[in-house]
Amino acid sequence: MTERDVMEFDVVIAGGGPAGLATAIHLQNLIERHNTEIRRAGGQPIAAEIVLIEKAAEIGAHSISGAVMDPKGLDALLPGWRTMEPRAPVEAEVHDDYALWLTERGGFKLPFTPPPLRNHGNFVVSLNKLAKWLGTIAEQKGVQVFPGFPGSKLLRDGDRVTGVQLQDAGVDRHGVHKGSFQAGGILRGKLVVLAEGSRGSMTKQLVADLKLDGQNPQVYAIGVKEVWEVPHGQCPPGLVVHTLGYPLDSRTFGGGWIYGMGASAEGKNLVSLGLVVGLDGPDPTMDAHRQLQRFKLNPKVAAFVKGGKMLHYGAKSLPEGGLYSMPRCYGDGFVIVGDSAGLMNSMRLKGIHLAIRSGMLAAETAFECLQRGDFSMAATRGYHERMQRDWMHDELRKCRNFHQGFHKGRVLGLVNAGFAQLFGGKGMLWSDGLKSPAGHTMMQKVAAQFGSKGKPAETKLPQDGTLTFDKLTSVYSSGTMHEEDQPCHLVVTQPDLCSTRCVEEFGNPCQHFCPAAVYEMEDKPGTKHGVDLKINASNCVHCKTCDIMDPYQVINWVTPEGGGGPNYQNL
Ligand code: SF4
Repeated sequence: MTERDVMEFDVVIAGGGPAGLATAIHLQNLIERHNTEIRRAGGQPIAAEIVLIEKAAEIGAHSISGAVMDPKGLDALLPGWRTMEPRAPVEAEVHDDYALWLTERGGFKLPFTPPPLRNHGNFVVSLNKLAKWLGTIAEQKGVQVFPGFPGSKLLRDGDRVTGVQLQDAGVDRHGVHKGSFQAGGILRGKLVVLAEGSRGSMTKQLVADLKLDGQNPQVYAIGVKEVWEVPHGQCPPGLVVHTLGYPLDSRTFGGGWIYGMGASAEGKNLVSLGLVVGLDGPDPTMDAHRQLQRFKLNPKVAAFVKGGKMLHYGAKSLPEGGLYSMPRCYGDGFVIVGDSAGLMNSMRLKGIHLAIRSGMLAAETAFECLQRGDFSMAATRGYHERMQRDWMHDELRKCRNFHQGFHKGRVLGLVNAGFAQLFGGKGMLWSDGLKSPAGHTMMQKVAAQFGSKGKPAETKLPQDGTLTFDKLTSVYSSGTMHEEDQPCHLVVTQPDLCSTRCVEEFGNPCQHFCPAAVYEMEDKPGTKHGVDLKINASNCVHCKTCDIMDPYQVINWVTPEGGGGPNYQNL
């Protein structure tokens, strides 16, 4: 039995993205305000120990988003953020936006920008810079912020969450303790705030164990993104362009973006460019990285990055299911916030403001729990009730089941979304209240997708290393590093399937859907089809696509050693 250090806290926040950091900052603000008043009245102040853990080596290094931020969340959290020091790392205020319909060889500007894609008053940001800035504020307020410490499992007493066990370090690939072994400590908390981001590993387990799933299972998309440095003026800061159509076929949910960021150190413009692709499509060869390369080959898109240089690459999954796919977000000793709770407005392609707001509402609930000394489900239900009364619920209600409307294809999905706009959400025609399936069940077998002749040969894309890149070059640009000699954090629970049924039925889709070339089918004489799965775990950018999209649901993403993973900059 491994001996572990045990530390006691009042509130343990697992995850250092905007939701977790907003929880920490707002809770400290509430406690400070309360204590100032109570001291004046001669009463007893509240003393609360708050700790925030983050798996990345530093706060923000795993945070990635499009990202155009609706300031509503930040306005509520830090009303003076526009003028405060240290300065908020905002790239640019949006001054111009439009939408492009793309075809393979070109495209055209839509005569009007669909209302959900209008962004005047919003801000282009880099989420990893924003998270870093919020992390500094949280630390200044006295929150204990521990980057490099992944939560490996939730500790429970029956249905009550009692804390988080941190990931062990110094274990070799066979599970043997190395000389550097350090047992992951135990952080006991009266309240655990799950802020792990999309498809958090502890949240996933908790939702399954306590049957917290909402009316619909969560469905996801993957966002793949690059940041480019381009000649000055080519894509001015604050320009926001959204694209529809090419390179995705009409059965696949998704679209692209091009955002003008701030200026680089050399005075050139930075451009954020990327693609969102649904992880509930029929094609077992879906490859978002490949689609991103095709996207850039479109002349309308290529014009934005002409003469420039790709600096950074990253990928993440996004919870797309909407209001009806949210799990129950509270229980004995826990609340779930941000992407982990499925809080994203997929119609507006925005989640940062919702993540921040959910963190604030979780903080208000935590504060009430601290005052009462009650962290039971009856007390944490206050978080749910606050969300129900809040503007975030109204916003999510308007776009409920937006994503599911696209299950009948792009055209009907757009009509559905149009009705939702016209009637304030009431017009969600066929999708309102629809029972939708989990995304991985939508993948078709190779024979069903491509007929008896099998999958046609893919056209080879030019990978010139200037405009288009192979996956390994992209992974290099994500700054991803892991300790090589550690247990594989991509646990395949039925490995025999990979070299047998999966070859025949789905053609090993993991080779395609992983945006970081982690999964490879290598020659293996003696196996049924002469191939077997090789996992290049050190390439993993922690997007969780494999955990979500694997058709047999036998890939379990677990936390690697602390500090491993991408090192996002400007993403
Ligand atoms: Fe994403 Fe899974 Fe590939 Fe890692 S292994 S990059 S989590 S798809």
